[in-house]
Amino acid sequence: MYLRNAIIFSIGNELVEGLIIDTNSKYLSEKLKVLGYYVVRIETLPDKLDILVERFKAGLLEADLIITTGGLGPTEDDLTREAMAQALGCKLVIDEKIAQELVERALKYYGKAPESVKKQAMVIEGASVLDNPVGTAPGQMLQLNGKIVIILPGPPAEMIPIFESITQTIKTDDALYTRRIKTLGIPEAVLMNEYKDIIYSNPNITVATMASYERGVEVRLTGSTELKEEIDKVASELLNALGEHVYATDDDSIEDVVYKLLSENSLTISFAESCTGGMISSKFVDIPGVSKVYKGSVIAYSNEVKTSVLKVPESIINTYGAVSEECVKSMAENVRILLNSDFSIAVSGIAGPSGGTETKPVGTVCFAFSSDSFTRTITHHLRGNREMIRKRSTLLAFDIARRGILEWLRQREVSKE
Ligand code: AMP
Ligand code: MG
Repeated sequence: MYLRNAIIFSIGNELVEGLIIDTNSKYLSEKLKVLGYYVVRIETLPDKLDILVERFKAGLLEADLIITTGGLGPTEDDLTREAMAQALGCKLVIDEKIAQELVERALKYYGKAPESVKKQAMVIEGASVLDNPVGTAPGQMLQLNGKIVIILPGPPAEMIPIFESITQTIKTDDALYTRRIKTLGIPEAVLMNEYKDIIYSNPNITVATMASYERGVEVRLTGSTELKEEIDKVASELLNALGEHVYATDDDSIEDVVYKLLSENSLTISFAESCTGGMISSKFVDIPGVSKVYKGSVIAYSNEVKTSVLKVPESIINTYGAVSEECVKSMAENVRILLNSDFSIAVSGIAGPSGGTETKPVGTVCFAFSSDSFTRTITHHLRGNREMIRKRSTLLAFDIARRGILEWLRQREVSKE
């Protein structure tokens, strides 16, 4: 299989100065791989004309596809268009239709339209204009001597929809096929060792694994599109073997999965959060439409709030402590009734760096899932700093919710029969 070479240029002084993180390249290289390109290099460059021209020329000699992001603003310091035109030896011409639109937009929003707004209407001669549905700077695409040059604006919210509008055009016949298997509840080393006979059963399939305390462990099986059937076969064997450890096989996060389970079944959830301090709630409300399934949370950080608002009996805290399965069980059961939801999750733990004891070291986190028919509790011993422990607790809370809801739904099916 011959993969075409690609180079990504991310452009902007703010990038080389370390003020913002280059997320565009991460997004683009992941997409390009699937479209059948081999990304030979990612270059981060400042807004400097001579440097841009020199690097673009070098890139054009080497790669079949060049993508730039950034440097398309209306101000003097944005130079990507000019630099690419020079590197290609092409002229920049004004697109009157875009210029007119930019002037009208400027008049509408600012009451005046300085000459500089027209800068964003300058197009490399021969390039097609890629409509920007979100912002002002359109993208551009040029095919020249068998090479493709694509220029995109820097803001990810503008770059992504423009890039998506051309994926079918730049897709190669050698596009790769990938299956993703996202798991929680099984450590990476255990997963890769216990299931190695399945995972590595086909030497033509490339295996990549990623472990993260914010997403769990993902196994990716990749190969050329001709291998689709073989990849699907390995994927389904692995899915069978892993069972309920698998939470998604697509872009969905664990909170998306919980949201879908609830909304498809018209069910609701609430949270009682101690050490996560609202993080579970905050993650959940990132999902648009979540109000259908989410009642609310009680952030019961102090013992006082655990007993006064959540009605955890003082005797439980005195006997077992606030970080105990007895305490989270009571928190979960009471918040579910207090906020009138079908399910609830409670979390209480020691995020550190202080507060640990011999029997309950830093990283001890107790979880409870409550429903009208059962409550499940579990204690995890997490490693890492305060931030990692709180993020990992949030991730685990959603996974415990997913498993609890699945169990509840299964019980309901059985009782219907
Ligand atoms: P532009 O006006 O096209 O240069 O885009 C400028 C803005 O886009 C910057 O202020 C950043 O917020 C964002 N941006 C530019 N390049 C990137 C990148 N590689 N990754 C993420 N955001 C970026
Ligand atoms: Mg810029």
